[in-house]
Formats: sequence, C-alpha cells, structure tokens
Amino acid sequence: MIADSRIYLDYHATTPVDPRVVDLVVHHMTTRFGNASSVDHAFGDDAADAVRRARAEVAELVGASPRSVVFTSGATESINLALRGLVRSAAMRRTGRPARIGVSPLEHRAVLDCCEALEAEGLVSLTWFRVQPTGQLDLQDFEVSCDRLDVACVMAANNEIGTVYPLEEIGAICSRRGVLLITDATQAAGKIPLKFNEWGVGMMALTAHKMYGPKGVGALLVSPGIELEPIVRGGGHQRGLRSGTLNVPGIAGFGLACRLRSEEMAEDEPAIARRRDRLEAALLRLVPELIVNGDRVNRLAGNLHVSIPNVPNTAVVARLRHHLAISTGSACSSGTLSQSHVVRGIRLPDDLADGSLRFGLGKFTTDDHVETAVRLVSEAIRQVRSALSC
Ligand code: PLP
Repeated sequence: MIADSRIYLDYHATTPVDPRVVDLVVHHMTTRFGNASSVDHAFGDDAADAVRRARAEVAELVGASPRSVVFTSGATESINLALRGLVRSAAMRRTGRPARIGVSPLEHRAVLDCCEALEAEGLVSLTWFRVQPTGQLDLQDFEVSCDRLDVACVMAANNEIGTVYPLEEIGAICSRRGVLLITDATQAAGKIPLKFNEWGVGMMALTAHKMYGPKGVGALLVSPGIELEPIVRGGGHQRGLRSGTLNVPGIAGFGLACRLRSEEMAEDEPAIARRRDRLEAALLRLVPELIVNGDRVNRLAGNLHVSIPNVPNTAVVARLRHHLAISTGSACSSGTLSQSHVVRGIRLPDDLADGSLRFGLGKFTTDDHVETAVRLVSEAIRQVRSALSC
C-alpha cells in the first residue's frame, strides 16, 4: 500500500488513507465537484446527496442519529465547538456562574488547552479527575466528583497509552448524576464499538484521519436538546452551528471511511491486536528491562506504549527516523522537548517517562513490518545503551 521501504508504525498520529476512500474523494473533487448549498442545479443536488449519505454513515458507526452530526475540520474544532459553544450558550449564561467542568488530566491537548483557556476567561471552573497508573479513571472518585459538575470530559481511548475507557459505565454515572458527558472519541471510533445514543453521551468528537480517511474533516455529534453557541459564523450552514461551504470531498471520504470501519472493524481489529502482541512479546524478549505502560487488558488493538529505563527515547527515534516511524509521545506534544502530559499524568518516574516509545499499528501493518521493526528497535536501543556506557 505504501510505495516506500520505510515502515510506518505511528497510526495514532494519522493513518494512511484507504484507496477506496481516495477514489471517492477524487470523484468528488473532479466529476461530482458541486457545492452542497447550490439549490439551483443537479451539481448541487449530487453534493448534497453525498453529504446526506456521509451523515448517515458517520452516525451509523457510532450508534447516533444522522441529525446529530455536525461536520467540522476535525476533532480539535469539534472539541472547541462542544466546549466553547456550550459554555457560551444562552442556557449556560443564564446560570450566572462559570460552567463546572470535570476533566481527566490524560485528555488530548485539544481538550486541555480549550478547558484551560475557558477557565482563564472566567467561563469555566475545572475539576481534575483522579487517574490510576494504567490511565484508567478512579470511577468512585469520578462519581463523587460528578455531584459538583455540569459537564464531564472523558475520552473514549487515549492517544498515547491506548487505554480504553468504560464509556457505557461512565455514561450511566453521568446520566444518574445529571452531568453532560463530552467524549473525545478520536482514537476509538472505528476501532471499538461505540453507542452514542444508548450510552447517554451528550457530545462526541470524531476525526476522519485516524480511521483511514482524509485529514481536515471530522464531526461533532450533538444530542437533541443541547444548546450551542456557534464558534464559526456566516451563511448559516448546518443549522447555523458551523457555517462555511461544506468540504464535500472530505465529508464523502469520511463517510465511506466510517462505513468501511462499520463493515470491517470486527475482522481487522483482532488481526491488528495479534500483530501488536507479537511485537510486544518480541520486544520484551529482546530488550532487557523494557516495560509495557497503560492498561494491557483494556487497550486499543493497535497500541503499544513501552518504556526503557535510562534510554532516552529521542536518541532511539533519531536512529530510526529514516527507516521506521514510531513516536516519543503524541504528534502534538513531540514537537516540544517537554515530557508528554500523559506519561506525567500516569506518574511514570522520569527515567521511564524519558525512555517511553509509542507504537501504533493499523490495518496495513504486515507481519514483515513487525519483524523488521523488532530488529530495528532492539538494535537502536542496544546502540544507545552502548553509547551511554562509554
Ligand atoms: N483528540 C485525540 C485523542 C487525538 O489523538 C487527536 C489527534 O491527534 C485529536 C483529538 C485532534 O484531532 P484532529 O487532528 O482531527 O484535530
């Protein structure tokens, strides 16, 4: 699939686009290129049909109603619309106090930065949920915290350590306590079953580029009755919630990517997990002192997050970068030299935090990729260790 001798094991950062999705995106950039808002001709009708179909496909993947889907430029925008749109809504302003939002410290920076900015603007007061070393929430503490909250923000799966959260249980707690649940399902959608309507999720953020779709397109699912103040105005598209000409090629591609996940996830994910387990077993065998981080039971199939004490991860990836794509943390935090907030949040000691590596496997990962990765990584770690001991 990738005409390249380099091996890509960074599927949490982004995935290759499925060739079937590429074909549809190109079709909507060339033959069927109309504007979905053009009501005067069939080019517009074609585009509107494609958007309607995609809305149904996205909703179907996560057990929502097509009417809940608001297309955006990706999960970061969806999260900003959910949080900022909610706390600036007339309903929230009528309470006359900042919205009380509980958030896990392991959320993606899109959630954390948005929450912290709203807190600095005086629109929000934040409560931090307690997390365990596996990355799991302390559900007792969560339930108690909910008594003092309007909103809880809990991701469906973590983008670094792969921990999968018990969203159904979390949704039930939120419903019991009258708390609105906002879920960043960016890494989970298309990998594990999600039931937006059944589990009582209030809003859910999605993106196409983590599930073999194109970059720059995503969605926010919004339950009926939630009032949001738009953050992008002009034209009144999507019931005024998100103005701007719809990205029809991207949306059509996102829809097909969702449909393919609905149809193929049950077969693909166990195969991905088997390869991940082989990678994990081989690294544990070949790399002395390597430990596996996160929750090894409730984990995304394609995730492996490890630490090697006193072996700087930056030195390892520097040796591998032209041959093998793995990551020292999330794509967003690895641009800076600071430790990722996730490894800090699960309280990894410094030597393990600085020696942590994330592998992300996906449906195009082969047995050969895994074998070669094991060889390259174990050799790179051996070289770094011997350079450090000189
Ligand atoms: N949330 C999580 C958990 C992510 O992994 C990412 C991307 O890395 C985002 C949000 C942001 O998604 P997007 O790139 O679509 O803005």
